[in-house]
Amino acid sequence: MLTFDYKCSQCDAKYEITPELMLCPECELEQKRGQPLKGVLEVELKGTPISNDPLDYLPVEREYFPDMPVGNTPLWHPEKLLQKHDFPELYFKDDGLNPTGSLKDRASLLVAAFARKNGIDEVVVASTGNAGSSMAGVGAAAGLKVKLFLPKSAPQAKLIQSLQYGADLVLAEKNYDQAFALSLQYSKKFGGMNRNTAYNPMTIEGKKTVSIEIFNQLDRVPDHIFVSVGDGVILSGLYKGFRDLLQFKKIPKMPEIHGIQALGSSAISRAMSSGEFQEQHAETVADSISVNMPSNGYLALKNLKAYSGHCVTLTDEEILSSQKELSSSCGLFSEPAAAAAYAGFLKQKKILDPNSTCVVLLTGNGLKDINSALKNIVIPSKTINSLDELN
Ligand SMILES: *Cc1c(COP(=O)(O)O)cnc(C)c1O
Repeated sequence: MLTFDYKCSQCDAKYEITPELMLCPECELEQKRGQPLKGVLEVELKGTPISNDPLDYLPVEREYFPDMPVGNTPLWHPEKLLQKHDFPELYFKDDGLNPTGSLKDRASLLVAAFARKNGIDEVVVASTGNAGSSMAGVGAAAGLKVKLFLPKSAPQAKLIQSLQYGADLVLAEKNYDQAFALSLQYSKKFGGMNRNTAYNPMTIEGKKTVSIEIFNQLDRVPDHIFVSVGDGVILSGLYKGFRDLLQFKKIPKMPEIHGIQALGSSAISRAMSSGEFQEQHAETVADSISVNMPSNGYLALKNLKAYSGHCVTLTDEEILSSQKELSSSCGLFSEPAAAAAYAGFLKQKKILDPNSTCVVLLTGNGLKDINSALKNIVIPSKTINSLDELN
């Protein structure tokens, strides 16, 4: 059996888990405008997990989880790519196969369970697209109302998904950072549980289930993991899952994690070298990792430094060409932000031992953003009436 508390990722203060508490009240006082969130809370586990089932590592009891098949996504081991790169232990964890098409479902599921446990019937969320469409879908399964703030530039498929699931959608005129601020004002004023990434501690905790699954599927800890990074919550969730496994002596060491960013949205990567977070007007084809200021920047940086992690930045061309290569070589179609993790592997592989176990975490499905995918392919303009017209 396990018991759970919150622990501040900055000052180590401990708190009881309650739905009102989102950030460490002490550290939150130091919050500066245009900087990552101060006082992000993590869940601390005590005791012994009763099994290796990821649900048994989470701070909400099973009975509150909506009946939705989140997680348990496949770990691909595609022959053609292993041979091409000469990396016999290369794996792809395809989280694009979650019910709403992205890894965000892992966080939404735990947030929904946490809201239900506490009798809260509305969830409020800002998103670049995937967290919102995920919360909308999981919220529908859980019988929760969802108030969603998206930037007006969000890919259409993600807007359509959210509306199909029945969310109440508000479009922010400027960008994701504006949507984030508006949603916080809304939940403070009108109530509901805010699911903003990093702000709600259950977002980091929910995403850790991917690490426990990878461990269960491989029956060992990978040497290297590649993951794309926007706000830095998936990255921190990955670290959290492996830290839990290390705490319970299920694994002997932490994996080396490679955080992949687009050059046009690379605040964490730059902070890794400079020690400071500088705001950037983010611009990249990979919309899911496009943020001006990463909300979970401090914790992401702390984890990367503590466990010898790496940061890699990529051009949009590199991201799009890796997306095409992955699709055409093994039938795995990921959205650009997800394919970026594969582009990161391609960039790093020269410094890796080819016999190491590498996992590329693919965070979202390719059909979520067809306009970006269109940039690298040509739809035939000519139509024919007879095969004589071929060529
Ligand atoms: C959200 C998301 C990311 C980035 O996750 P962060 O927690 O913001 O770093 C990467 N890929 C996809 C497909 C996503 O939806």
